Formats: sequence, structure tokens, C-alpha cells
Amino acid sequence: MVCLAGRQPSAYLKNMETAPLIDPFARPITYLRVSVTDRCDFRCTYCMAEHMQFLPKRDLLTLEELDRLSSAFIDLGVRKLRITGGEPLVRRDIMSFFRAVSRHLGAGLDELTLTTNGSQLGRFATELADIGVRRVNVSLDTLDADKFANITRWGRLEQVLEGIRAAKAAGLRVKINAVALKGFNEDELFTLLDWCAGEGHDLTFIEVMPMGDMGEEDRLDQYWPLSNLRARLAERLSLIDLAERTGGPARYVRVSETGQKIGFITPLTHNFCESCNRVRVTCTGELYMCLGQEDRADLRAPLRASPDDALLTQTIRDAIARKPKGHDFDYSRQNVAGQVSRHMSHTGG
Ligand code: SAM
Ligand code: SF4
Repeated sequence: MVCLAGRQPSAYLKNMETAPLIDPFARPITYLRVSVTDRCDFRCTYCMAEHMQFLPKRDLLTLEELDRLSSAFIDLGVRKLRITGGEPLVRRDIMSFFRAVSRHLGAGLDELTLTTNGSQLGRFATELADIGVRRVNVSLDTLDADKFANITRWGRLEQVLEGIRAAKAAGLRVKINAVALKGFNEDELFTLLDWCAGEGHDLTFIEVMPMGDMGEEDRLDQYWPLSNLRARLAERLSLIDLAERTGGPARYVRVSETGQKIGFITPLTHNFCESCNRVRVTCTGELYMCLGQEDRADLRAPLRASPDDALLTQTIRDAIARKPKGHDFDYSRQNVAGQVSRHMSHTGG
């Protein structure tokens, strides 16, 4: 059992003394995504190779270190914290971490949330709701049990559906994230849409990104542009563009016939970078200032060098001062340009 109770609520007043994080392009950094593990109980074909070499456990930050790191960012003005992985809910004792960082809710932090494959929600949904989590993103690319088993290699659809039901029953809002995959879920576009509408879940489609070496999987074979997906929706439905922005690559429409909201995450277009408000920390304490670039800063060394946060804070500030203007992903020349070598499970999706 890990004891995280010793740390006091992030001193909200300290915020006033410490300037918020603003990058060279005048973008305030208010959103942190923390990957708490690179491990997962699934092996989605677009995300991992079947036989992944995971990091040695000793390289991972402890839950106390992850808490200290997250708290440092909150002290520097981060208002939204998303926990991801790998599969965050397979990390041992992860609820003690959630409980610890939840002390910042209403005291600097506006939202604590997570992205999960849903397999463990049956176990944890009630506790997450109790801790103060209000929304979860659950990744689900198909409602067909056989296809689900194929795409996740190790997953079981019924277990995930059970998890989603548990989340809903606990009062958590569920957003379904589906990766758009050519030849895989094209035929389920309206099935997914109708199921989400019926269950009251928001739905967002994600364009597949060129991350990590997938072995036999070919990126261009998997790539189903969301422009095409959207055009197919528009053949049957009237879509109204919404002005809503999250500072990330998501754009939203409303279906005028049903009122349903649909998101599109198109990281391969550049049009979101100018409003980017986020950075990512891996489970080993690497800070990535951009999902699509290799530049990073090591936060583990300053974290371990001293119990005082001064060095850590300075390292974070120096890194934010190098946040690039945007990424270089590009499929347009019929090859995968701007590919980054690390897997999504490493940086945290
Ligand atoms: N295991 C959790 C899950 O699946 O939700 C959290 C981590 S996962 C890396 C986060 C998100 O990244 C998931 O929605 C997943 O579908 C997405 N993802 C993984 N690899 C991707 C890729 N190459 N392109 C686009 N999305 C990807
Ligand atoms: Fe695991 Fe999520 Fe990657 Fe699938 S997408 S292998 S569930 S980390």
C-alpha cells in the first residue's frame, strides 16, 4: 500500500507567486496528460506490437513521484489532468494515486480524468466517481465481438461493455473514442453512432497516427481520413459545425436530426497547433512538449535530485520555453512522413 497522504493540498496561493506556464508562441499550458504505465492488458494492432518490450519497472516513476510531478504542474497553472498509459487502470494501486491528486480538485485543478480501454472499469468506476472523476474516455473501435478480439488481440468486448455500464451506473459521463480504420470499422459508422446515441455517450473519431513501429501493420493501409468519414455521415445526416474548442486536435459537430455531438480528432492536420494548451509526461518522467516531435525533457533526474521542487520547476519552465510551434505528421505524399519512433502507449494517447 502506498501512502500519499503526507503531501499538503497544492498551495493555491503559491500560484500567485509562480508565473503560469506560457510557451514561446503565447500559448498557456493548462492541460497535462500523464502516462502512469507503458503496460497494457490489450495489444491493439495500431498501438502496439504483439510482443512488446516494456520498460524495466525500476525506470518507472513511483506513484509518489507521479503525484509530486502532477502537483508541480498544478502549482504552475495546469487546470486539467488526464491520466493515461498504456492502460492506466492496470498499474498496481493506481487508485491511491487518483485519490492523492484529487486533493487539488477545486484548489487549482478543475478536472481530473482518464483515458482507458475500459477493461477494469467494472472494478474501479464507483471509486473513481467517489474520488471526484466526472468523465472518462473509453476507447472502443467496434461493437462486433470477433472484430474487437482481432483489433485488440487480447481484449474481450463484453468485459469492456460491462465496464462502460459500470461507469454509467456510477454517474460518470462516458465519451467513446473510436480510431477510424480503413476496411475495419467503416461499415460500423452508423452502428457506433446509434449505439452511442442510445446509451447517451459522446462519440469521437480519431485518425490513426504514425507512431511507433507496428511490425507487420502498414499505416497507409489503416488510414481512413476523417474528411471521408465525415462526408459519409453527411450523406445521411445534417451536421452543424460547433465553435467549441478544447485546445487540442478535436473539432465537434452536432447532428441536427438527433442533437448528438460528434468529435473528430485529426492530428494530421495542422490547424489545431496554434491553440495547443497541453504537454505530456511519460511514466518514466519524460516531458514531451509536442506529441508529434522527439524533443523532450527529463524530469526524473531533477525530481530525484532533491525533495525541494525548485530544480523540477525550473526544468519544466526551460522545457516549455522550447515547446515547438507544431508537429510534422503528413500522409499526403503517400508515405508516412514525420513519423515518430515511440509508441502511443509510451507518450500516452
Ligand atoms: N489504454 C488506454 C486506451 O486505450 O484508451 C489509454 C492509452 S491509449 C494509447 C490512448 C488512445 O490512443 C486510445 O484511444 C487509442 O485508441 C489511441 N491510439 C493508440 N495508438 C494510436 C495511433 N497509432 N493512432 C491514433 N490513435 C491511437
Ligand atoms: Fe492498450 Fe490503449 Fe494501446 Fe490498446 S490503445 S494497446 S488499450 S494502450
